[in-house]
Amino acid sequence: MLFRTTCWYCGNKLLGRTKRHPERNRTSLDHQQPKSKGGNWAGNTVMSCVVCNHDKAELTLEEYRLLVMFRAGKVKMPVDKMLFYGERFD
Ligand SMILES: [Zn+2]
Repeated sequence: MLFRTTCWYCGNKLLGRTKRHPERNRTSLDHQQPKSKGGNWAGNTVMSCVVCNHDKAELTLEEYRLLVMFRAGKVKMPVDKMLFYGERFD
């Protein structure tokens, strides 16, 4: 089966689950609402790359979306948020 889809968060092309793909193109299933915050239902999963799955971790959808936009230079983030996300801003 041809497998063509993109990461639900960052839009990178997803190529499959095997380790020979770079992490930003490797497919994983992510919970939009973190399981630790009550997101343990079936419709809560989306296809994402391994990088986003790892980076998002315990963030909510809104929090992670803000972080992706910030990294793409599309939004400015308040300093307290940056500290929260562990971003360097020097
Ligand atoms: Zn991604």
